[in-house]
Amino acid sequence: MLIFVVMNKIQDQLKVKTEATRKLTQQNRKHFALNRASAGFTTELKEITFTLLSDSSEGAYLLDVDGNQYIDLTMGFGSILFGHNYAPIREAIERQLRQHWSVGPMTPLAGELATKIHEVTGVERVAFFNSGTEAVMVALRLAKAVTKKNKIVFFKGAYHGTFDTLLSLKNHPETQLAQEIVPGVTQSILNESYLLEYGHENALTFVEQHADEIAAVLVEPVQSRNPSLQPRDFLHELRSITERLNIALIFDEVICGFRIGVGGAQAFFDVKADLVTYGKVIGGGLPIGIVAGKSDYLDATDGGFWEYGDASIPKVKPTFVAGTFCHHPLAMAASLKVLELLTADNEQVLKTLNDKTEKFCQQLNAFFEEEQFPISVSYFASLFRFTTPGKLSLLYNYLLNNGVYIWEGRNCFLSPGHSDEVLSQLLQKIKQSAFEMEADGILKRKAIK
Ligand code: PMP
Repeated sequence: MLIFVVMNKIQDQLKVKTEATRKLTQQNRKHFALNRASAGFTTELKEITFTLLSDSSEGAYLLDVDGNQYIDLTMGFGSILFGHNYAPIREAIERQLRQHWSVGPMTPLAGELATKIHEVTGVERVAFFNSGTEAVMVALRLAKAVTKKNKIVFFKGAYHGTFDTLLSLKNHPETQLAQEIVPGVTQSILNESYLLEYGHENALTFVEQHADEIAAVLVEPVQSRNPSLQPRDFLHELRSITERLNIALIFDEVICGFRIGVGGAQAFFDVKADLVTYGKVIGGGLPIGIVAGKSDYLDATDGGFWEYGDASIPKVKPTFVAGTFCHHPLAMAASLKVLELLTADNEQVLKTLNDKTEKFCQQLNAFFEEEQFPISVSYFASLFRFTTPGKLSLLYNYLLNNGVYIWEGRNCFLSPGHSDEVLSQLLQKIKQSAFEMEADGILKRKAIK
């Protein structure tokens, strides 16, 4: 079938299925400026360019406003590790909601959570913010304040949120400075950011050569967009170079943290970073961002440790950090519950979930391989991602049509709510989608079996 005929066919089916989502999206577009509702816009797929509207979810499932049920693989962009509406977390939030949910004076929960995070991850000090973006922004500021340098390094393939100095995918071939690609993120802001190749020897040499100006190297240790790249030796070398040359090594663990294990990527790679950012999982589905790490750096938030009743004073001149909702009682209560659940029984919940994800991904890859379909999945912990070259990204439309929801950024996550039964349904739906794509002439086998 010609590709545009197929596109029309899948569009016609999805249009019927998601009528209420499309109708509300259209109704709201005039006043609701929503980038996700136009993400990946193409004229060919205009009629099914929307973001799904849903107001109900449980375990591995969600319902859209048309009443369709989907197996959710988005799982709150990786923030809902235990499954939707998980009772112990909901109850912790409800308890806190009944007791106190105002900001102003600090809730005692925040100090308790900081101490617990120190105990389970080994970080010395912890500061709370509202999102991963904010945590990354603050971590970079602390690094500049402490090292008294102004350049930062980040790597191609990483995603660190929406802080301006990190919003580029392209570097200057000679200077390696990040280049302006997004309107509004001007070159002058990017002139403090070097964008290098992740895992490459050249990047290490570059960092060594520019050490005098580099305050921080920011790493997403396992990039959610490329989870099979796990450059252990590179990270160890990077650690020893940055340590030697007074550069802050920042691990952005907004996705890896509390997922591969409670110790996150630091424990997985056996690398101690100077600063670590966390988000997503630890918030139990509520907004959170955390900057943690060595006192040398965290002391730039508050001047460092001092005690009542003696002559001690804050020794460090702090930079500026603040935020109305930074220690929101509901997020603190949810996070404390998440930590309790994660650390119970020697982290069994993570071990089981990560093993399950690996087994499921291997089953998927075995299917694609056996059928000689040019699709595969790569994975790390409970995260996985399809590789869908060219027009094969239509897979996501076929999957949606068959009741599997994957958001526009395409990172997929499993939860304990994805039981064996759900996973076997999911496998069938993925197989069915692939065979339908083949029947429609979109998916071609690599070789005849
Ligand atoms: N860092 C990483 C590694 C992320 O994956 C994300 C978000 N997906 C962020 C930072 C930004 O977090 P947030 O969306 O909470 O601002």
